[in-house]
Order: sequence, then structure tokens, then C-alpha cells
Amino acid sequence: MSEFVTENRIWDSAETMPHDELRALQLERLTQTLARVAEVPFYKEAFAKAKVGPDNIKTLDDLRRLPFTTKADLRDHYPLGFLAVGRDRVARFHGSSGTTGKPTFVAYTKEDLSTWADLCARFLVSGGLRPEHTVHIAFGYGLFTGGFGLHYGVERVGAAVVPASAGNTQRQIMLLKDLAADVLVCTPSYALTIAEAVGAMGIDPKELSLKFAHFGAEPWTEDMRAQIEADMGLLAFNNYGLSEVIGPGVSGECAARNGMHIQEDHFIVECVDPETLEPVQPGNQGELVFTSLTKQAMPIIRYRTRDIAQLDPAPCPCGRTGIRMNRVVGRTDDMLIIRGVNVFPSQIEEALLRVEGTAPHYLIEIGRPGTLDEVKVHVEVRSKDLSDKMSHMQALRDRIGQEIHSITGIHADVHLVEPQTLERFVGKAKRVLDHRTET
Ligand code: ADP
Ligand code: ZN
Repeated sequence: MSEFVTENRIWDSAETMPHDELRALQLERLTQTLARVAEVPFYKEAFAKAKVGPDNIKTLDDLRRLPFTTKADLRDHYPLGFLAVGRDRVARFHGSSGTTGKPTFVAYTKEDLSTWADLCARFLVSGGLRPEHTVHIAFGYGLFTGGFGLHYGVERVGAAVVPASAGNTQRQIMLLKDLAADVLVCTPSYALTIAEAVGAMGIDPKELSLKFAHFGAEPWTEDMRAQIEADMGLLAFNNYGLSEVIGPGVSGECAARNGMHIQEDHFIVECVDPETLEPVQPGNQGELVFTSLTKQAMPIIRYRTRDIAQLDPAPCPCGRTGIRMNRVVGRTDDMLIIRGVNVFPSQIEEALLRVEGTAPHYLIEIGRPGTLDEVKVHVEVRSKDLSDKMSHMQALRDRIGQEIHSITGIHADVHLVEPQTLERFVGKAKRVLDHRTET
């Protein structure tokens, strides 16, 4: 059997650039980037404080001498303190989703928009997109980078776009059916919502023409992929990005689907221990840090993403030379500390999906009624698995509790709830209700 789930096609020969050439290009572009940020007040100040400057950066390893940039730095220079070009050169603004507080804005020149379209074209093509396809985009169009980012990537490939945007799931399904889209783009949680609505409308997923899907913008699991693929009859690919770095297109899976290739000719990646900020040992999990190499309007140096993942430098059978990152398990600010144990919501999801009979719809509720943390996990049961027999439901609950314990090490109080009772999401899902942080 081939190691690829679909044909291994490459959009841009830069994706397979030999390592030594890639490193030389990175250094050249890093030097140009440092020259571009020299007059940005934040960098001017930060470099002066760290007593480093563009002249000290002679090799790629010297990058480590430069200070980090954080979300707080962006917020402190709200709205446009990081702009490195005149307003006359800005072609578009976007904003982060504001998942963790006040949004931050990012800007693009015309060249940036063109680079971005190419970066998205690369991962779309590596995940099956062909010019003859039609792509249904159910990411929100607006300040969020998902909608417009993917939109222009699809156009760059020469395929047709249905800019459906997010929401109104029944209408989405009508569009998918009537316009016979081959490819679906959205968050994995919205794909679940769509899959479920397709079933509820009595439509056989085979009546849809979907062959591929590109999901991103939030953590998801391998089991979730298997479930969506089985429900919808398609191949699903993971892609990653964040507005501060460019938006979607920072990395994406190839047809080998064994991690997402980082587009290293445009970004330098580091993986650091979020406490010590030192590089982690190869193969260990850590916080990803990105430096942009080609961005004009808002270059970013050593941006701490707060996303936890691990890098895999092993060669990939697809021929791409960009280092791979595995699935993001979560962000440091989503990590729950329960009785001293670190738990990511994606681990709870993994546990649920291991147990037959539950839908991947859940809500984690944490409180501290006394002195100790208590966790309740509300889990929807699929209609066909609902049973009048107490013993069946009890057994299901116990199995879920055991899986959660074996994956996370915590004891959770599992509450089974009826189908369709937990909230559905059209964008990024919200899975945690933490009463400990309420005042
Ligand atoms: P916000 O930070 O407000 O959510 P963005 O829309 O820029 O704004 O979201 C970027 C974040 O989304 C990333 O930092 C990461 O946490 C998450 N993300 C994006 N793609 C993926 C993915 N494929 N897997 C897991 N998380 C992802
Ligand atoms: Zn590959």
C-alpha cells in the first residue's frame, strides 16, 4: 500500500529545497527582516535593552540572542504599534479571534497577501486540491484570518470557491449538495456539526460530492479525524496557523499525513520549554516560537505562540524538506491544572472518542467547592446508544471515567446527557467552564 492517502503532488519547488539551501535562504531573509523592523519602536527598544542588533546576527543560531515577542507585547502596542510600513502600503487588516482576551490586529501589504495565498495553495494542493475542484469555505469571513486566507489560496490554485462563511448549517448543506463541492474547509468542530445535521436531514453523505476536507484553527484528535472521515466519506487534512504569524498557511499536512510541514522558507520555528525558554530536546513537546522571514507590513520576531507541539526533523517520503510539527495538543493558556495535574481539553476528547457510544460533544466543568478541584465532564450519548437500562448507561459512564483516568491521570465525574443538549459551534469550540476563575 502507498504511504500516501492521495496523490503526492507539490505546488512549489521551494517546498523540496535542499536543507543547506534552505538554511542559507533563511539567513538571508532573516537579515532582511531585521532591517525592516529596525524602525519599529517595540523592536528598537527591545533590541537596545537586550544589547543586540542586526549586526550581531551572523548565523541562524544567533537568532537566540534576540528577545521574544509575546501576545502581551502586541496588546501593549495596540492597535498598530508593530506596523513596519507606512499606512499607504497596507492592503488589508485582520484580527485574532480574541479567544483569550482583547483582539489584536495584523496588517498585510499587497505582497504579503500574495505570499499568504501561495502558502495556503501549498497545503491545499498537498491535501488533494486540484484546479477542477470546487471548495466550500465555511470558515467565518471577516477579521478572522481563516475565511479570506483559505479563499485566496483556493483561487491561487485555480479552483472554484463557494464563500459560504460560517453559520446556518442547513443552508450550508443545501449549498454542499446543490453546488457539489469536492472540498470542505472549516473548523473540525463545525465539521462535526455539519456531519450531524446531514444525518438529521436524512441525507446520505454519499449524496454529497465531498472528497477532501481541510480543518484547522483549533486542536482536534486523530480519533476525531477517523470519525469525521467515516461519517462524511472524505479525507481530512490538518493545517495550522495564527494571525500574528500570517494566518493559516504556517504549516499543513502532506499526503503522508504524519505531521504538518512548516513552511520554513517563510518562517523559522523554535520549540522551547515555556518555563525556562530554553530549546527542548529534539522530539520533546514544547511551545512553538515563530519568526517571519518575508512579511512586510508586520514582521514578527520570535513570537511565542503558547501552542504546545513537538517537532519532527525526520525526512518525509513526500520529499518536502520543511520540518514537521505534530498536532497541537493545546495552548499553555488552555491547559487546565487540576489538583496539580496538567490536562489539555484535547486529552479528554481523546478519551471520549475511544469509547463507543458517545458523541464527541462534551463540556468540561471545573469547580473548587471545598479545598480541592472537582471535574465534571458532560458527555452526549448518541441517540442509537441511549438505553432504558440503568446498567448499560452506568457501564458506559464507567468506561468513559476509566479512559479519562488512563489518559490524564485525573478522576472526573462523568455526566451522560441526552443527544443534542450541548452547545454546537460554527467556529472555534468552547469546551471548558472553569468556575475557579470566576470572581
Ligand atoms: P486567537 O489566538 O484569538 O484564537 P487566531 O485565529 O489567530 O486567534 O488563532 C490561532 C490559534 O488557533 C493558534 O495559536 C492555535 O492555538 C489554534 N490553531 C490553529 N490551527 C490549529 C490546528 N490545526 N490545531 C490546533 N490548534 C490550531
Ligand atoms: Zn510530507
